[in-house]
Amino acid sequence: MRLVIFGPPGAGKGTQAGLLEQRHGIAQISTGDILREAMDQETDLGQKAKSYIEAGELVPDKLVRQLAEQAIADEDYDDFMLDGYPRTEQQAEWLTEFLTAHETPLDAVVSLEVPDDELVRRLSRRRVHAETGETYHLDHDPPPEDVDPDLIVQRSDDQPETIRNRLAVYRDETAPLASYYEDRSLLVSVDGTGGIEEVFGRIEEVLEARAHRG
Ligand code: ADP
Ligand code: ADP
Repeated sequence: MRLVIFGPPGAGKGTQAGLLEQRHGIAQISTGDILREAMDQETDLGQKAKSYIEAGELVPDKLVRQLAEQAIADEDYDDFMLDGYPRTEQQAEWLTEFLTAHETPLDAVVSLEVPDDELVRRLSRRRVHAETGETYHLDHDPPPEDVDPDLIVQRSDDQPETIRNRLAVYRDETAPLASYYEDRSLLVSVDGTGGIEEVFGRIEEVLEARAHRG
């Protein structure tokens, strides 16, 4: 399947995409993870992206286009899900053109719906493993006890002021893509509240219903 996992920061895109990869073998392509890795390795891309990410702004379209397209090509244009891409109308249009040119259109855009106050609770309690990038939540998905607590850190963009800015950027630049995909009959909305497994069950259900629709 070719999917986009869509939704605001903190909606659970990465968590759900990770489960879909583990259990259904669909490759997760996270532009956020790719950019953070580039930042850690201080590559040219990482250095260019750093100031935008730390301010909670979007990295310029041109910088992310190449890395998203490369990652899709690496999966032979099939069985992938994009987590965190596209985030602007320009990116969505490029993606449509790119996939159309390879005759591999998207099957669905799964939109995770979570209210703002819950997003803030999720992001402010999110923690990541400094080396593996594995995501945890202090209350809902705590790190296992055998993990060195010194390696469990907070993302630099998960600070209160940056969280507020990311939510505003989402509202202004990314949320309008829901109607872009609705117009193309690709959008499937899923209630993203409740437990991680509960949300996963809902996603499996809607994807199955869509697969049977043909
Ligand atoms: P979250 O999981 O909270 O939604 P991500 O890990 O997806 O955040 O992204 C972190 C940051 O990386 C974003 O705030 C943005 O600065 C940058 N980024 C990731 N994907 C894109 C994209 N498609 N376009 C522009 N910037 C992006
Ligand atoms: P996104 O990639 O959309 O920014 P994440 O998958 O990183 O979101 O999830 C944000 C935070 O919320 C993480 O700390 C994650 O462990 C936690 N989380 C994810 N899904 C749920 C859920 N259904 N209930 C509670 N917390 C969740």
